[in-house]
Amino acid sequence: MSKEKILVIEDEEDILALIHFNLVKNGFRVECATTGEDGYKLARDIRPDLILLDLMLPGMDGHGVCRKLREEPGTKDLPIIMLTAKGEEHDIVRGLEQGADDYIPKPFSPQVLLARVKAVLRRHHKSDERSIHEEPIKIHDLYIHPGRNRVVANDENVDLTHTEFKILTLLATRPGWVFNRTQIVDAVHGEGYAVTDRAVDVQIVGLRKKLGACGEYIETVRGVGYRFKE
Ligand code: CA
Repeated sequence: MSKEKILVIEDEEDILALIHFNLVKNGFRVECATTGEDGYKLARDIRPDLILLDLMLPGMDGHGVCRKLREEPGTKDLPIIMLTAKGEEHDIVRGLEQGADDYIPKPFSPQVLLARVKAVLRRHHKSDERSIHEEPIKIHDLYIHPGRNRVVANDENVDLTHTEFKILTLLATRPGWVFNRTQIVDAVHGEGYAVTDRAVDVQIVGLRKKLGACGEYIETVRGVGYRFKE
C-alpha cells in the first residue's frame, strides 16, 4: 500500500469528500484545504508528494497558488494536478504554463482521478531517480560529479575521457558490487555494442593511472570483472 501524502485544495465540499474517500481507500494519506491561502500554507508546511489543486477558489485562485508554489525552492518541484470545471478549458493552457503537471476536467470518475495521480507520481519518482544520479558521489578521497563530468582525487582535478568517467561513475555508485566486463560495456556504450574484454581492461588501466593513489579503489576480481572498494 502506498503511503504517499496528497494535498487536496478544493472549495466544493462534495467533490472534496469524493476525492478524499477515493484516495484514502487506495492507501494515500490525504490532507485538505478549502481556500487557496490555506492550501498554499499547508503545502509549505507538510510538503505533500502531490497536490490536487482546484482552479476556481475563493480568494487566491489555483493559478495564484501554483505560481507561488513554483516560486519557492522548497515547493517548486511538487507535482501539481489542476482540477478544472467546464468552461475553464481556456485556463488549462495557462495552468500548464505556470508549471502544473497535469489537469483533470470535472466531472471525473474515481478511476480517472487515481490513474492520473499514479501516473504523475510515477513520472515524478523517475525524475527523482535521475536527479539522484546527478548528485555528487563522495567516496574515500574521491569526489565525482556526474552532472559536471568532474572528478577530484585527493583534492586534485582529474582529467578523464568520457568512457573512463562513465566506468568510474558506474563502479563508484555501487561500492562492493562486482561488474563483469559485459555489464561495464553495456553501461558505457548501451547494450549490444561490440567491445572486447581487453578494451575494458585497457580503460581500467588508464583510469587507475590517472587517479593516482585513488586508483587502487578499483579492484580486480579475478575471472569476473571489477568492483569499487567499499
Ligand atoms: Ca471551485
